[in-house]
Amino acid sequence: MAKTVLVTGASSGIGKATAIYLAQNGYKVYGAARRVERLEALKDTGIKPIALDVSKEESLTACVDRIIKEAGSVDVLINNAGLGSYGALEDVPMAEAKNQLEINLFGAARLIQLVLPHMRKNRYGKIVNISSIGGKVSLPMGSWYHASKFAIEGLSDSLRNEVRQFGIDVIVIEPGGTRSEMIAVGSEDLMRVSGNSPYSKLANSIQKMYADIEKNAVDPVVIASLIKKGIEAKHPKVRYI
Ligand code: NDP
Repeated sequence: MAKTVLVTGASSGIGKATAIYLAQNGYKVYGAARRVERLEALKDTGIKPIALDVSKEESLTACVDRIIKEAGSVDVLINNAGLGSYGALEDVPMAEAKNQLEINLFGAARLIQLVLPHMRKNRYGKIVNISSIGGKVSLPMGSWYHASKFAIEGLSDSLRNEVRQFGIDVIVIEPGGTRSEMIAVGSEDLMRVSGNSPYSKLANSIQKMYADIEKNAVDPVVIASLIKKGIEAKHPKVRYI
């Protein structure tokens, strides 16, 4: 029977490519995001659109409840929804910093809490957390983004050893530069926050580096195929880079 997958952040970039790729490969895919109209446009690919704001508790519970009601299980959770907060630590307002952690860390963690009882009951589950190469190494002007990705790495490694006993795997994907909206708006965000601050010189040189990363970015379907490999492996690697 087709496995049921929930892909968060399916309205663009890596999440959209992954939702389409898995639907094309026989999975029953729920694609979740705030911009539901974009998900509706993917209906022809077989993706079931589902509204989700990972920063809202009622939205998270409604999303999982609906999938359980309709499909009976969430076999694979792909925690992909994310954003990048850039700029010097001194310049980033705390509200933006907290939002960065809210989306990239707490949203993912809460979804894991919500799907685990079902996965444990079925003695089957794949939890895929989309980290980043930025979850392994840090560059200046991205302290909150790196903090969120280092955190999801630590969370995943701890969780893996808790849930293995229930037949559940935890897989971490660490993409490098990948074509998406996030990579396109990253340098705008950096200049908005630090372009006119004491850190502007550094911001300018990092912006040039972002432009190079964008030029060499891979197609998101490359990451989608790594995710598929991870969820289908009998003994999945802990990390796919
Ligand atoms: P995009 O900006 O293209 O996609 C981000 C997705 O996250 C969108 O679908 C957006 O949907 C969703 N999202 C954002 N906020 C929320 C929210 N509050 N609730 C629900 N969904 C939300 O970026 P990418 O595809 O690049 O990013 C996907 C993941 O890949 C992120 O975790 C990112 O950190 C990671 N990554 C990306 C890399 C890259 O080079 N692109 C490199 C390494 C890691 P909507 O706005 O409709 O809600």
